Amino acid sequence: MSDTTPIQHFIRTIIDADLASGKQHGVATRFPPEPNGYLHIGHAKSICLNFGLAQDYQGVCNLRFDDTNPEKEADEYALAIQEDVHWLGFQWSGPVRWASDYFQQLYDYAEELIRQGKAFVCDLTLEAMREYRGTLTEKGRNSPYRERTVDDNLDLFRRMKAGEFPDGSKTLRAKIDMASPNFNLRDPVIYRIKRAHHIRTGDVWCIYPMYDYTHCISDALERITHSLCTLEFEDHRPLYDWVLDQLPVPSHPQQIEFSRLELHYTVTSKRKLLQLVSQGHVAGWDDPRMPTLHGMRRRGYTPEGIREFARRIGISKSENIVDMAVLESAIRDDLEAKAPRVMAVIKPLKVVLTNYQDGVTGSRSAGFHPQHPEFGGREVSISREIWIEQDDFSEDPPTGWQRLKPGGEARLRYSYVVKCDEAVKDADGKVVELRCSIDHDTLGQNPVGRKVKGVIHWVSASHALAAEIRLYDRLFTDPEPDGHKDRDFIEFLNPNSLTVVHGWVEPALKDAAPEAHYQFERSGYFCADRIDQRPGERLVFNRTVTLRDTWNKGHG
Ligand code: ATP
Ligand code: MG
Repeated sequence: MSDTTPIQHFIRTIIDADLASGKQHGVATRFPPEPNGYLHIGHAKSICLNFGLAQDYQGVCNLRFDDTNPEKEADEYALAIQEDVHWLGFQWSGPVRWASDYFQQLYDYAEELIRQGKAFVCDLTLEAMREYRGTLTEKGRNSPYRERTVDDNLDLFRRMKAGEFPDGSKTLRAKIDMASPNFNLRDPVIYRIKRAHHIRTGDVWCIYPMYDYTHCISDALERITHSLCTLEFEDHRPLYDWVLDQLPVPSHPQQIEFSRLELHYTVTSKRKLLQLVSQGHVAGWDDPRMPTLHGMRRRGYTPEGIREFARRIGISKSENIVDMAVLESAIRDDLEAKAPRVMAVIKPLKVVLTNYQDGVTGSRSAGFHPQHPEFGGREVSISREIWIEQDDFSEDPPTGWQRLKPGGEARLRYSYVVKCDEAVKDADGKVVELRCSIDHDTLGQNPVGRKVKGVIHWVSASHALAAEIRLYDRLFTDPEPDGHKDRDFIEFLNPNSLTVVHGWVEPALKDAAPEAHYQFERSGYFCADRIDQRPGERLVFNRTVTLRDTWNKGHG
């Protein structure tokens, strides 16, 4: 069960101090995705942090799209992101915001910087600029265009905006310090010319502001108090502060960095996830093997489970590479309490109950959850032919085997003790059927004079419904697929990450709604597929997670 007590971390400590000292009178955060792909588990960490703080401190959290790279951005992504934030259980304050809402204001501020002599139009090509920038050990050199007059700069910048110059031929740069040890302060580009259709502003603009210039101003305009971002922006903070210090913005938010989440056996980069989708390595952004929120949702992960995961991993500045087992156990703990238990046979082996007698042989009712009688129950009917799991029979079992073996007994869950009298084989010697007999005196009671310890799950062949069952394993065979300098992450794709089987489920699942969660007893948690499940018609279940941690045993 998830605990809702917030765990103290350094960002909360900063906020507490700011509120106590009167520096801030409330908390305003924002979640600022770029609509250039679907959100992944790393974004979930950021969402839970930003929206979670707003909730805990009765503040606000904005959703703001950072839409400054028109070629890569699409409405599909923006819509999917909004859906994901809602699905995770959060609501942004007021309308959805867009950095592009501020394009005019950003432009006006850029003119202001020019008037103050703090920005100039530069004609260096990107390549030349790189040369002038210097290295870690060598200072940069001033651009030959750095000393243009304010009037020239204003004129050129207005003409950039008016579309008089070709793409890439000029930039607007902040005039800071080419000798700074921090590259971000070596006269960074703040505007570039790019004739690209923008999802919000269409073709109105042919110059676009850079992220570093846009982000701090957008935060300030929205009066964000604490602007939380991942550690790679630490070196950008001096630029964030520099921009705000020059301009008459209504507030000066504090940027605070925390470490990004990395999950073993997967990648958390939209660019790499896009590559998996566009090259057809997965079925789409919502493929249940993807670490996207859409993928995890389709697989059967719950918002509560993901939020609990975010709570457990915490927030800090130290490296945050997390084992998949941590995520899975949070999901399992959530589903444990809410998923009804049913029986399903995933890899079926037929069993004929040779002494089955219609009319004499009974059925039992079984509850859907041992701790939740309010979930109700159903009759578990038996018939002469049943399905059991292939793995629950062994001709030559190891010692201590409690499932079926020749001459051995096991209890059918909610039903009789059966004894295996014969294993029927095909021409290749493969066991294709068992012939078993029921002990008629064992329905709801122990057999007399002997102990039968093993309990196996099963379904009645004449009652069961056919179901497609999708079993997922890790998507990559390497814990850090993108951590190899000389090898592409694609090389580490697991060829066996998806296995589709045709199994049998209890009739109680006939009308399972898309996205309904179940525990298939002894097998794992499963979820009716969000897209392909058609209640009463086609049954498709995705394995969300196994019942126990199998990650460290080399099998999913
Ligand atoms: P990607 O590399 O996947 O595109 P990004 O940082 O470019 O990630 P954005 O859309 O800019 O993606 O991210 C929105 C917010 O989510 C940012 O504040 C970013 O810092 C945060 N975020 C992204 N990835 C992670 C992660 N792995 N862990 C924690 N926060 C993340
Ligand atoms: Mg980004």
